[in-house]
Amino acid sequence: MSINRRDEQRAQAEEILGDRLDQVSFAKGLFGGRYLSEQLANYPLEVGESVQRLTDDLRAYCLAEIDPATIDRQEEIPLSIVRELGRLGVLGACLPKSAGGMELGQTDYCRLLEVLGGHCGATALFVNAHHSIGPRALVLFGTSEQRQKYLPKLVSGEWISAFALTEPEAGSDAANVQSMATPTDDGSGFLLNGEKRWITNGGIAQVLTVMARTPDLSKRQDGTRQASRITAFIVTPDMPGFEVVESRMSKCGVRGTATSRLAFHDMFVPFDHVLGELGGGLKVALTVLDFGRTTFGASCTGAAKFCVDRAVRHAQTRVQFDQPLCEFELVQQKLAYMQAGAFAMESCTYQTAAQIDAGESDFMLETAMLKVYSTDVLWQIINDTIQIFGGKAYFTDEPYERMMRDARINMIGEGANDVLCVFSSLMGMRDVGLELEAILHAIQSPLGNLGRLGRFAGHKLGSLLVPPQIDVRNAMLEPEAARLGRLVAKFGANVEWLLRTYREEIVDRQHQLARVAHAVMEIYVSACVLNRLDTTLLHADADDPSVKFELETGGFYLQTAERRIHENLRALRNNDDEATTRFVNALLAQRRS
Ligand SMILES: Cc1cc2nc3c(=O)[nH]c(=O)nc-3n(C[C@H](O)[C@H](O)[C@H](O)COP(=O)(O)OP(=O)(O)OC[C@H]3O[C@@H](n4cnc5c(N)ncnc54)[C@H](O)[C@@H]3O)c2cc1C
Repeated sequence: MSINRRDEQRAQAEEILGDRLDQVSFAKGLFGGRYLSEQLANYPLEVGESVQRLTDDLRAYCLAEIDPATIDRQEEIPLSIVRELGRLGVLGACLPKSAGGMELGQTDYCRLLEVLGGHCGATALFVNAHHSIGPRALVLFGTSEQRQKYLPKLVSGEWISAFALTEPEAGSDAANVQSMATPTDDGSGFLLNGEKRWITNGGIAQVLTVMARTPDLSKRQDGTRQASRITAFIVTPDMPGFEVVESRMSKCGVRGTATSRLAFHDMFVPFDHVLGELGGGLKVALTVLDFGRTTFGASCTGAAKFCVDRAVRHAQTRVQFDQPLCEFELVQQKLAYMQAGAFAMESCTYQTAAQIDAGESDFMLETAMLKVYSTDVLWQIINDTIQIFGGKAYFTDEPYERMMRDARINMIGEGANDVLCVFSSLMGMRDVGLELEAILHAIQSPLGNLGRLGRFAGHKLGSLLVPPQIDVRNAMLEPEAARLGRLVAKFGANVEWLLRTYREEIVDRQHQLARVAHAVMEIYVSACVLNRLDTTLLHADADDPSVKFELETGGFYLQTAERRIHENLRALRNNDDEATTRFVNALLAQRRS
């Protein structure tokens, strides 16, 4: 990528992220070897009565009326289900009461998504696309007229919404949107031209948030025109020039959802359909996706718990070689990983949702880590479940092959996991770089791993790092807290070492950035687990069998996560990166010749 393009993207990233760049969230603090306990919200153990009732009603409705196998086979979620989800309140869960919604917080909304994710991946994605990333943009960025006009019917499910960002040239590189909105001469609106692909609900929605490029008419100091910027528009399918090229693309999983291709031909969009600021579209997209990512954690948790439950039962009853499967060590290894993984992703989901509900304004890193962790671990859990069930899982009369197909999109959509890993590392390291003074320039562009690092003055910060004190309210957890503190310090020292070692090249060292991301992700998840155990012990008796088992599960997660974190940090210095690069270059050259 050219330096100009990198600098352009850096400037864009800074503008979009705004003052969030300068805020120090809990996860960002870890990069500097700090454990900012005061930024960790209370773990939300309690479920309010009305939300419990709603969750129970939703679970009962799912079991009685939503048949995931039929939805998968017929590649459609019946309209009656959409209407009932609206009636139950799910489609307007977080939307304002004035629009008929329930104004739930993120934690309560996650409880609903967990139920849906544990029952039907397609329905969970439909709700997420409709509610989390559609109307959310209207709530956060819409004018009161826009909100009044669209929200009530979106709450009831009478209207469906979609969020259209992706295009052939704009996938992970979301800033590369090519759809163009040209202002009309009379200033009344825009003519929109372009195409969108892979848009969930795109062909069936009545309200779409569409990202398109608008010319920036302001001039730079040197008199030249600024580059065009991306703007969010509210689009309705009755606008002349709106075309549904394909309403339901046939696909691998989440087949009940309508994934669509759209095109816009000289489509007139009135000026008052601009959502948020002109040129502020990427900010809208990123803000909205930040919320959406929390619900990935919730729906993955639902699916993971389902798998653990089924796999344990099967392993206890299926006998081979005169023994139940659960007596074989390799099956036990899988069951232990699955239970601990499901517990950890649940802890991370609700802790992250609580951060949002507590009013933390910067939760970008936390939601990115939650998304990557929960989707990766769910994929492994489903794989292990299929292994434990053997051939039985391969047939369509069992849910596992469908769940595998449904789960695969999680690691691609709303920020591919690889991209989010690179993003998290660069974003987190930026502050350490600032503290170390010299890498400011390049590391300021975490969005696309772009920019160039300036001269780096080799501070010896690592030697200053001592393990942070992690206070727990229950003495039982002090050993775990002390170990986590040592991990945080070791991680911070390694970040500093990386920056000193690679200087400006760190932005392109994706092997290393991925290790940093995986290490810090599990440190963050460990913090969530520890906080949850500490809160549980505050309210319950440690001898209660269910509490005892929760402590065992959390303790096992913390122990095994610690080993994985050490492995990632060790691999920063002992790896095959150079050999990998040499070999893949040989491969690419051989295929070119
Ligand atoms: C079922 C489905 C539903 C969808 N729904 C919507 C929707 O409602 N609205 C919408 O706007 N979009 C939607 N999408 C699009 C989705 O968000 C994109 O697929 C996603 O953003 C990734 O873009 P891409 O598929 O073009 O992958 P690409 O950008 O081509 O990337 C492919 C792979 O390359 C690697 N990669 C890319 N860039 C980097 C990098 N910088 N560093 C390291 N590795 C990299 C990653 O492994 C990535 O997975 C949907 C997609 C699917 C399949």
